[in-house]
Amino acid sequence: MGGVSGAVTAGKAAGTGAMPQAGLETSKIDRRRENLRLAALASTGILDTEPESYFDAITRLCAEYFRADTVLLGFADETRVWIKSFWGESIRELPRQHSVFERVRSEGGPVIVPDIGKDAHFESPVLNLRRLEVRSFASVPVRSSDGYILGALSIFNSQPRRRMALDELSMLENLAEMVASQLELRKMKRSFQGCARPQREVFPVIPRVWPRPSDLRRALDRQEFVLYYQPEIELTTRKIAGLEALIRWTHPERGVVSPAEFIPSAEESGMILPIGDWVLSEACQQIQKWNQDYEQGAPRVCVNLSARQFSREGLADHVEALLSQYGVPSRMLGLEMTESSLMSDIDIAFDVLGNLRRLGVTLLMDDFGTGYSSLNYLHSFPFDVLKIDRSFVGRMTTGDQSLQIVRTIIELARVLGMDVVAEGIETVEQYILLREMGCRYGQGFLFSRPLPAEAMSHLLQLPGRLLPDPEQDQ
Ligand code: C2E
Ligand code: MG
Ligand code: MG
Repeated sequence: MGGVSGAVTAGKAAGTGAMPQAGLETSKIDRRRENLRLAALASTGILDTEPESYFDAITRLCAEYFRADTVLLGFADETRVWIKSFWGESIRELPRQHSVFERVRSEGGPVIVPDIGKDAHFESPVLNLRRLEVRSFASVPVRSSDGYILGALSIFNSQPRRRMALDELSMLENLAEMVASQLELRKMKRSFQGCARPQREVFPVIPRVWPRPSDLRRALDRQEFVLYYQPEIELTTRKIAGLEALIRWTHPERGVVSPAEFIPSAEESGMILPIGDWVLSEACQQIQKWNQDYEQGAPRVCVNLSARQFSREGLADHVEALLSQYGVPSRMLGLEMTESSLMSDIDIAFDVLGNLRRLGVTLLMDDFGTGYSSLNYLHSFPFDVLKIDRSFVGRMTTGDQSLQIVRTIIELARVLGMDVVAEGIETVEQYILLREMGCRYGQGFLFSRPLPAEAMSHLLQLPGRLLPDPEQDQ
């Protein structure tokens, strides 16, 4: 555990004896990041709320598992740490300055101090937490889906403890992740409040057991991944305007596995990088093939990028090399990314988007409307296309609010000079409404499900690449 405890560099006591967690120094705060962090926190609606048994279950579990005297789950706004749930010492609020949270935030990860008395960074051998004289503590961050540290889950003991084993640390981190998944659920509920659709149930994330990184590596080596393609249609003509490439895993026992089942683990483990490289290269190869096969050439093919791919150095160079390897004009490739994948580092996002833009590839913002800060950045990112998340399209005909949201997004895109694609069109009613609202493009099962390349080739050979009118089939 040396790596983790070695990361602890708690500062000198700042002479604030009255502070419950004195002894920890507050490091400089990057104002811009802090504002984004506070926005992420506000979107969860967690501050100043009543105790909830869900969180109490987690602090209790921590206390039992780690035999801790006190466990605190706190979220920090500008000045204070709001304790959402405690075990042991009854505390509702702590000053943020010199707090354990502040330490976790400045370290950017877990902080473990097995013995405060032996830690050169503490002037006093104990740290006072109301009635408890703390001799050891461990604290892990609770992060937003974009990686901002919103709070910390911390265990405290009045005795020094042995160093924490790796599996103990990951237990603590898993519990913090359960808190984080609960926050995500709250965020979703808040953003959908007032919509008529019954809420889908979301359960706390259980640590993933399948697939492991080695399963993904093997699948890549054995060429078990395939790309399916789904058309994006010009709604007035039903002409295929482009395709979205969607990965599938043809598993020898499980059959065709959807990306929802393996992309999250691939992202967590970093396997998304080689998988993402494969997707990009496979898509470029397919464009090259369709370009050769058809006089009118291939339609534009859009590939989904994950956050990790995005923040890796040299993405634009990599894309440029692939385009030239397969002789694909850059306008034939589109790259889709979600807003949250850009948020972890806004400066990198601007840089990478700028470079991709200069290459001439089309940039699409995916799942638009689900992020919390959509409007803040939209006008400054150089996107060509906005894709309206299918959750809004799906509820358009059942609730007035979703209809208004879709209308607003279409108008917003028009004002910003962007094209707009409505995702997840399943009914003729939705199709008609979207057309009436001036939405230019759409995608959905009503027109075509995602298909393997060969089946898609048949659609590409339809006269004028016009898909049949679904209204005629009614
Ligand atoms: P996405 O990029 O938003 O893709 C659209 C998803 O909506 C696809 O799910 C598609 O099959 C589904 N869809 C399209 N029309 C309809 C409809 O009318 N009704 C319904 N219910 N669903 C519709 P899919 O293929 O399961 O992909 C899910 C997500 O996985 C994608 O969401 C994307 O975020 C991710 N993904 C897929 N392929 C890749 C990839 O190659 N790389 C990365 N990083 N992510 C990928
Ligand atoms: Mg997409
Ligand atoms: Mg989408």
